Amino acid sequence: MTSIHSENFPRRISILFHIVAMLPLAGFAVGHLIWGDLLLGLILLMAFVTVTLSLRQELRFRDSLLYRQWFVLVVSVAIVYACYSVGLRGLIYTFPMASVFFFTFRLSHGLITGIIFSISCLLAALNVEEPLLVVRFSVGITICMVFASIFAFIVGRQKAELERQAGLDELTGVLNRRRLQETLDTALQLKQRHQTPASLILVDLDHFKSINDTHGHLVGDQVLIDFARLVSGRIRSCDKLFRFGGEEFMILLPETSEQQASQLAESLRERIAQKIFGGSIHLTCSFGVAELQADETLEAWLQACDMALYQAKNKGRNRTVRRFQVTSDALA
Ligand code: GH3
Ligand code: MG
Ligand code: MG
Repeated sequence: MTSIHSENFPRRISILFHIVAMLPLAGFAVGHLIWGDLLLGLILLMAFVTVTLSLRQELRFRDSLLYRQWFVLVVSVAIVYACYSVGLRGLIYTFPMASVFFFTFRLSHGLITGIIFSISCLLAALNVEEPLLVVRFSVGITICMVFASIFAFIVGRQKAELERQAGLDELTGVLNRRRLQETLDTALQLKQRHQTPASLILVDLDHFKSINDTHGHLVGDQVLIDFARLVSGRIRSCDKLFRFGGEEFMILLPETSEQQASQLAESLRERIAQKIFGGSIHLTCSFGVAELQADETLEAWLQACDMALYQAKNKGRNRTVRRFQVTSDALA
């Protein structure tokens, strides 16, 4: 489950987060070193140094997740010790700290570390405070943790939904080109590491411009939606359909040879040619199929598909051409 934890924590907020932590830490560290508990002063000073190092990392645009986690743990130890040493005056910092865990760790880890931290603070405070007062604080901290986790859960869910939508084509709802790049990269890695086969089918709707010209753009849009729905319903759940652009679509078929991909392309081609779109529209499509070769680059793989599609168009459309069928005259 995605959360508001700090892998994608916005840099400016993170810098603010550091400064808000640094100022009181510096003040209390100096105060305790001069007038108060020397050990507490040293622990607070250590927390201050850790936050400063983490901020330095952030300002240098370096990955500071580990530093931030370390700083949260050191500050937590300082607050637990403050609870042990000065009771109530330490316990009040458990409230803001309880929410910090959710910004630093993912939801489940934030909840676990937050609970461990809160229990440690409450037990430590028993050293100097009345048990009844500690019990009252435990109710407040529990409510604070519940709200923080509900907030983290809602924000995490919205973030996951936004990420999902950012990868979808607005019109057809299939995956978009942005998602294509990362999916193909994964296919390439699987091929290089485990020799896992993968094939691509590039589909282009034939004479689509004339459908727009005859029936209007809105009807054209609906044909694209119906086309995407038909293909989505015919491929396996592990296969992926992308809108490559305009009236061109791409299907990624993991664990599939060129022969199998071409059989699927043919069955899709026949199905589309038989279907009547929008009550009266006959549509055909051309298909270019290519299996990923060993040590092939992404560009070469896409180009092979493009060549095969180009030849399918050249040969008269409404057909499937496989990479190995591409002849030099098509490239001329
Ligand atoms: P070919 O068989 O050579 O592919 O011919 P074609 O007419 O399909 O290809 P062409 O590239 O000439 O035209 C593509 C058309 O697809 C033109 C463009 O307006 C239309 N198109 C692209 N995106 C959309 C869209 O989102 N909605 C609609 N309705 N039409 C679109
Ligand atoms: Mg076309
Ligand atoms: Mg086209």
